[in-house]
Amino acid sequence: MVDARQIAEAARIISAGGLVSFPTETVYGLGANALDEAAVSRVFAAKGRPASSPLIVHVADIEMARSLTRQWPALAQQWAERYWPGPLTMVLPKAAHVPDRVTAGLDTVGIRIPNHPVALALIRAAGVPIAGPSANPFMQLSPTQAEHVRAELADYFLDGGPAEVGIESTVVSLAGPVPVLLRPGVLQLEGVALGEAPAEGAAHAAPGQHARHYSPATPLILGPPPMQGNGYRWVLPGDPLQCAAELYATLHRLDRMNYDWIAVYLPPDTPAWAGVRDRLVRAATPDGSRAEKHHAPGEAPA
Ligand code: AMP
Ligand code: MG
Repeated sequence: MVDARQIAEAARIISAGGLVSFPTETVYGLGANALDEAAVSRVFAAKGRPASSPLIVHVADIEMARSLTRQWPALAQQWAERYWPGPLTMVLPKAAHVPDRVTAGLDTVGIRIPNHPVALALIRAAGVPIAGPSANPFMQLSPTQAEHVRAELADYFLDGGPAEVGIESTVVSLAGPVPVLLRPGVLQLEGVALGEAPAEGAAHAAPGQHARHYSPATPLILGPPPMQGNGYRWVLPGDPLQCAAELYATLHRLDRMNYDWIAVYLPPDTPAWAGVRDRLVRAATPDGSRAEKHHAPGEAPA
């Protein structure tokens, strides 16, 4: 785990424009000073992430969040008080000093307060907001445990143990007339419909929405297992929160076992399962992802 000396060293590296892999409750992040354009560019380079995909900016308190925006609607304040620190990213009109590199040229910035003592200590010690996508190469599985983190991507690594939530944050845009859900997660927002961000500019309206993302190397099939090959029939835990917590760790583990395929049935199309379903669909091989057969969780693929 992490001591005060390590936090101080990591904060020094962030201040000097370096990169630090740090734990959050969702997944491990690859962090840089969000206000340092060169440092942020290094994050994109280290991940091989397209410049069109904006980064989430992690802050330690609501004041720091507000300082990155030029509009802070009443609903943002309400949700910040209710859900932060926690796995909710709010997209808001950005302040002028937030580099375009961070937001992929968008006029909005995605912000959250992570619910992890190490992440919060790092942000406070560095004294700056920290832009951080997941600490994995682009298109690969997100790290939820220290052993998944590719240490060579960053200048320093803070080991905070396993991530409790296990999948990326819920992302909601508050930049338009009505809140729009850009990415489902374990945190559910009642009455907020999935949609596209109020788009402008050349960047993706909803980045992270690359069809195939979060992928294992082993083909992941959604639906009945193939007749051929030596595969693994994956039975999901029956509880959505437990399932999210274990999702990437299970995929990391299965991916090391040289199966020809992994087959799993999608959980039900309900709000509680939306985050897990989204990640499974993105991780699946294109052919497998069309087999949208619904099974009760806990039920083994036939
Ligand atoms: P990742 O860092 O790969 O987990 O992805 C970051 C996610 O944050 C993307 O999937 C986007 O949905 C979201 N995001 C961050 N900033 C913005 C923004 N300014 N506008 C829309 N979505 C954003
Ligand atoms: Mg990611």
